[in-house]
Amino acid sequence: MATKPDILVIIPIRPAQMQMLQDSYTLHRYDQAEDRDAFLTEVGDKIRGVVTMGISPFTEDMLDHLPRLEIVALGSVGYDTIDVEACNARGIPVTNTPDVLTNDVADLAMALTFDSFRGYSRGERYVRQGRWRDEGSMAPTTSVTGKTMGIVGLGRIGKAIARRAEAFEMKVAYHGRREQSEMPYAFFDTPAALAAESDVVVLACPGGDETRGLVNREVLDGLGADGHLVNISRGSVVNEPELLKALQNNRIAGAALDVFDNEPKINEAFFTLDNVVLQPHVGSATQETRGAMAQLVVDNLAAHFSGKPLLTPV
Ligand code: NAP
Repeated sequence: MATKPDILVIIPIRPAQMQMLQDSYTLHRYDQAEDRDAFLTEVGDKIRGVVTMGISPFTEDMLDHLPRLEIVALGSVGYDTIDVEACNARGIPVTNTPDVLTNDVADLAMALTFDSFRGYSRGERYVRQGRWRDEGSMAPTTSVTGKTMGIVGLGRIGKAIARRAEAFEMKVAYHGRREQSEMPYAFFDTPAALAAESDVVVLACPGGDETRGLVNREVLDGLGADGHLVNISRGSVVNEPELLKALQNNRIAGAALDVFDNEPKINEAFFTLDNVVLQPHVGSATQETRGAMAQLVVDNLAAHFSGKPLLTPV
């Protein structure tokens, strides 16, 4: 019997698909190792595939420990923490999980937009804390209909958000590195210019060095005291200390965030603010989508080890 290829698991996928991997490969659980550096040194020589996600660093230094590596299969669409260039320079393809998560992430972006404008989470707290009973009606909030949503990153997820926003009778504008003339939305060539025209800016671009701190003081001031910020991209896209100051001083109306610096040990200053909605990075976290993402990891590995074209190379 042919020996099973050795796979390093940095971040596991869902149990059903982990079992499929278990059936076809010899798994080495880096995620469970007590001394990860020692583990990498111990098993690195035989590893032919890596399973991980674009929220955990995969560096050139790790590649140096994996001389027989053939493929990196990510269980996420984002790959900002993965040194794709270094992998490709060594002829190692990287695969991710585009499309299957687009609708769920776009749904969350809309839910966060509604929550920030209409104060649903705040209303929840108001009822639970007995304030409705003791203090009477909560103050009116802000309507979404007719407002302008500025999307930073009109890609797969950005376009799905735009379609939803249109269904809610919002106007849509966007910023990206280039204008997409086939799209029926106004283009702005800087995030600040977009923010100045938007009631809500929704971030749907990739993380990484190119977008680090894209949302700075100028962008927040462009949004202004009636503006909202929604982030479902990566925490790194926002200058978080500036965002906190803007929220603390009511220089923007509100923010709704699925992603942060230093997840999951996020800055606890957020906990004390009533004008921010917080989610624990759950954009793609439904049973259906996480299953489809995990299956793509399995299918990309299977394609690679049977000499077939990869389904979703980066
Ligand atoms: P995508 O199709 O590649 O879209 C990304 C968009 O960002 C592109 O339209 C691109 O347009 C734009 N962009 C790239 N670099 C930019 C820059 N420097 N400044 C402004 N815009 C830039 O990717 P996707 O599938 O929609 O996913 C987008 C991101 O969402 C992922 O990278 C990931 O970080 C995040 N995400 C989050 C969750 C969650 O759970 N919260 C789940 C899935 C994905 P141009 O080329 O025109 O610039």
